[in-house]
Amino acid sequence: MAVIRELDIETVNKIAAGEVVKRPSCALKELIENSLDAQSTLIQIKLIEGGMTLLQITDNGIGIHQADYPLLCKRFATSKIQSYDDLSSLTTFGFRGEALSSISQVSKVTVCSRKQGEPLGYKGIFLNGNLIEAPEPFALDKGTLIKSENMFSNMHERLRALGNHVEEYKSCLDIAQKYSLHYNNVGFKVLKLDSLEYSTSGREDKTEIITKILKPDENSLAAQILEIPPTQNEICSFQGLISSNDYSWKQSYFVLFINNRLVDCKELKSMIIGIYTSYCPRSSNYFVYLSLKILPSEIDVNVHPTKREVRFSHQNIIFTEIQNKIQEILKSNSTSKSFNIRN
Ligand code: ADP
Ligand code: MG
Repeated sequence: MAVIRELDIETVNKIAAGEVVKRPSCALKELIENSLDAQSTLIQIKLIEGGMTLLQITDNGIGIHQADYPLLCKRFATSKIQSYDDLSSLTTFGFRGEALSSISQVSKVTVCSRKQGEPLGYKGIFLNGNLIEAPEPFALDKGTLIKSENMFSNMHERLRALGNHVEEYKSCLDIAQKYSLHYNNVGFKVLKLDSLEYSTSGREDKTEIITKILKPDENSLAAQILEIPPTQNEICSFQGLISSNDYSWKQSYFVLFINNRLVDCKELKSMIIGIYTSYCPRSSNYFVYLSLKILPSEIDVNVHPTKREVRFSHQNIIFTEIQNKIQEILKSNSTSKSFNIRN
């Protein structure tokens, strides 16, 4: 007797959603990226119990038309691509149409949005991918407010596995700060309940933002930050900021954006640890912010639904180039220091 059967669509959607939204900060990353895709210049985030009880994001972007509400939280429904070929010239973060759908599988989602040029905003409530009531008029300025409530209350195993609100809050703040550093022309605010915990105005330079994030004890931070000047070759371009050899903070901080996407890259991180261990014998802690740009046709962002992982061609050549540049900067910094001391 046959034992294999097809899972029903509700089960498929729930399983898939668990992968996209592993924890509140994964949902937050998707929501920030949606706000950036909507050309927002101000993004406000409100968290209660690390985003588990409430994760809310408000932006001043282009908004969502009322007519789009029925499909808004449907899986694989997107305004950003039309066919697979569009991936090679992608300019937006989103393309899979999975984020809002996944968030609505693991929490109750409320969307209030007013499309640019429309006289009214609308509010819709979503559960399990579906709009559960007809959208109602709602007063708000141009932009979008998205609220996710009681995350994982319908997924008890996940709720038990997470559980620590402090860790979840830290992880959400970390995501918001990294985006605020890379997108320093966008203002970010993070509220924990009603208290403002972190904010940028969209007018600070990146060095000022690093100072806000790392909160060093002394005010000499700017002197300890070195620039990786814009560097370009046929395959890639990169620039960034790194800590100098005399970095003495307690923690390391590594931020990598590839084609404006916040990504994880173990190989690059261990290469950087290697450099700092050999150049900074007193302390191997470091700060590295790197923005790497690769031709969209040379990079595959469709490796995993969370898009935290990317694959690209010529990885070794690119990494070696970055390594040489960082070594050169650290070397010349230590040379100029010893020169200064002697004089
Ligand atoms: P994707 O970003 O891959 O398209 P999402 O599920 O994240 O999928 O979003 C679905 C659609 O909802 C987007 O394609 C976009 O049209 C719309 N959308 C989501 N968030 C916003 C926002 N903050 N402002 C404007 N439109 C949004
Ligand atoms: Mg998206």
